[in-house]
Amino acid sequence: MSKCYHCGEEYDQLFQCEKCKQKYCHLHKDPIDHECNLVLESQHLQETSNQYGYQPAGVQEQSALNYNLAPQNLQDQSPYTRETYVDNGERRGTTDGSFTWYRRETNIPENAFDPDSGIEFKGILLPYKSEFLHLLIGAILIFLIGLLGFYNPDNQEILNAMGYGWVIFMVAGFYTTAFLFHEFGHRQVAIHFGLQTKFRLLKFGMIITLFGLAMGVISLLTQSPSLPALALPGAVVVLGLDKVDRTTGLCKAAGPTINLIYGTILFMASFLVPIYPINLFIGISASLNFMLGLFNLIPVGILDGENIFKWNKKVYFFLVISMLVLIVINYICIYAPSNVNPYYNVL
Ligand SMILES: [Zn+2]
Ligand SMILES: [Zn+2]
Ligand SMILES: [Zn+2]
Repeated sequence: MSKCYHCGEEYDQLFQCEKCKQKYCHLHKDPIDHECNLVLESQHLQETSNQYGYQPAGVQEQSALNYNLAPQNLQDQSPYTRETYVDNGERRGTTDGSFTWYRRETNIPENAFDPDSGIEFKGILLPYKSEFLHLLIGAILIFLIGLLGFYNPDNQEILNAMGYGWVIFMVAGFYTTAFLFHEFGHRQVAIHFGLQTKFRLLKFGMIITLFGLAMGVISLLTQSPSLPALALPGAVVVLGLDKVDRTTGLCKAAGPTINLIYGTILFMASFLVPIYPINLFIGISASLNFMLGLFNLIPVGILDGENIFKWNKKVYFFLVISMLVLIVINYICIYAPSNVNPYYNVL
């Protein structure tokens, strides 16, 4: 006689589940009746957690994979609990009529970003490749989008005649660093809080980015105006930011904050460089930081703005308003008519 893996009752006849390979009674033999997905997941987690030792059930730890209910609590609250027993380090409780399944508390494995760690990330491109390669591919794509975005045949001819044809590479370089510094802002703050983090190329973002790049090339070849391409090949993925708290807020705010600081530095530098049109293009590079920062502050979905807004409205509005003010001043300087343009009238 053996026990059903789900309800723990002893039966003469048990059925093995094809998927999770555990044995169940006639009531729980179907995957849907024994929460087969959870069983599979827990088997996966137990493999990876074994090396870190046993975590006693009921210890509530901050964890991204916290499916655990504290059996003690349930025992206190539920007058229907009939029995609770410990079996192979797993605690289970049987309630009146319905069974409650307990998961063992598991910490995030140290190598969570390893695709073999058992933690699944959806939508990551090339999961086995190093962070450096991901950053390199991301940076190259951003640089190319920058070049395509700022290239304008008429302007380029004037710049070439002035001997400053290379400034387009400078702007693309500043654009790339604006993106990289933003991502490193998230990354370093997450590391500061002891969280696991990595820059990862994301499938969906890569599709949008490559599409934008292709459209840019087509418009270049056909000499038609191009739309600004969205450049978001990837992002810093941080584990353990499931709650909106100070840690999450600061991790999210770090990216736009870096753009605010970097943009301000470039904006000031644009007035210190006494050479037209280099100063103008440094000014444009400053605006790219404010644009990137403001775009990420839109309080929706996967963008940084949503969690910053939920965490701390003061921080959120400080970032938005300061970047809006700066970008307005910045644009006034860039687009001012030549007789009053601060960049044109240098010296
Ligand atoms: Zn059963
Ligand atoms: Zn199963
Ligand atoms: Zn961000």
